[in-house]
Amino acid sequence: MSEFAYRNGVMHVEDVPLPRIAEAVGTPFYCYSRGALVRAYAAFAAALGGLDATICYSIKANGNLAVVRAFAELGAGADVVSGGELERALAAGIRPAQVVFSGVGKTRAELAQALAAGIGQFNVESEAEIETLSALAHARGTRAAVAIRINPDIDALTHDKIATGRASDKFGIPWPDARVAYRRAAALPGLAIAGIAIHIGSQMTSLVPLEAAFCRVADAVAMLRADGHGIRRIDLGGGLGIAYRFAVEGQSETVPSPADYGAVVRRVIAPLGAEIICEPGRALVGDAGVLVTQVILCKRNKARAFVVVDAAMNDLIRPALYGAYHEILPVRAPAAGAERAPVDVVGPVCESSDFFARERPLPPVAAGDVLVVASAGAYGAVNSSTYNARALVPEVMVSGNAFAVVRRRLTVTDMLALETVPDWLGERPVARRGAA
Ligand SMILES: *Cc1c(COP(=O)(O)O)cnc(C)c1O
Repeated sequence: MSEFAYRNGVMHVEDVPLPRIAEAVGTPFYCYSRGALVRAYAAFAAALGGLDATICYSIKANGNLAVVRAFAELGAGADVVSGGELERALAAGIRPAQVVFSGVGKTRAELAQALAAGIGQFNVESEAEIETLSALAHARGTRAAVAIRINPDIDALTHDKIATGRASDKFGIPWPDARVAYRRAAALPGLAIAGIAIHIGSQMTSLVPLEAAFCRVADAVAMLRADGHGIRRIDLGGGLGIAYRFAVEGQSETVPSPADYGAVVRRVIAPLGAEIICEPGRALVGDAGVLVTQVILCKRNKARAFVVVDAAMNDLIRPALYGAYHEILPVRAPAAGAERAPVDVVGPVCESSDFFARERPLPPVAAGDVLVVASAGAYGAVNSSTYNARALVPEVMVSGNAFAVVRRRLTVTDMLALETVPDWLGERPVARRGAA
């Protein structure tokens, strides 16, 4: 995390001290480093250098317009999974021809929207979708470029909730059925077969399952080409993990680098002579963002010490949803040799799953201290909610010595403005004493 580092004992994002941003926007907030986004993209681009490859950033990892623009500027395409994400990608400046539309349940309206936008590729996941898309495209007098997402039945060896490539998962068409699906698709008037797609899961910390899936794709490509299909594009999906554990000595996680990933692509996929699409999400943004939060109070019971912070599970749900681990660092570096004691870092939301860390050895923390929840750039702000009537927190981007609010804080007024009380519910029932 070189863009996030202590300087003179204060955590900086690039050249901006985090306390300065906290003062300007209040806590909690997300903070992204443009430099880290660019560096992550460059690593991926270098790993695929010399190949006919396009990086289609997976918008769902972090759809903030400024984040997507940072990648669009570098020539990225986008992988979208809804009509809303398609609008986001285009609004951020991604070219329609470089958009891939994935997803197991695209509605007719979304398919029509994507056809009208002229996106580059539809990754279709079922026979039903193949029929619908063909009919819609044919009615418009066009052919939609499709890749069929096959389910390779490979376990990504990641958290159960983010594995997508097993036969028991809802995604794709089972690979043994691929031949039949391609034959049907090829016969339809509104489709043009472009290629084949997979995406077996997220936060993969080993390349073994990916390589197994790539091998299955290579076999399928050979078979489909022998059947006469023009497979000119291979979409490898996303899924490369990041190291969430890095601060605690002896526990550092090692994950494959984009270069390691690129080597597998070169070995298994490049010889097929097709255009390659990669859809990294987390690997491009995960390390480039943090969630900044302030300690409200500390309390302890017989069993545990609790640090209650002003961010909560509605702001960053990964710990509650996946039991995910995020490093937590004080914004002001602890004194050298400060004793660490295990604490639970929790939010104020009324759920026991509202925590950021359990029994985590942290240096002494007091009310008013500001903490950094690290590696929160992916599946953080995008996955937030207003549970407990908590307003969505701002997102800030830093570039060098400049910072900008790239999503303002929602207000409770904004939230209430979305709601109406029907007139048949009548008047407020209780008139306060003395009220007119
Ligand atoms: C979520 C998703 C991705 C990105 O996954 P990461 O693990 O964030 O890299 C890529 N492709 C598809 C189809 C997805 O659903």
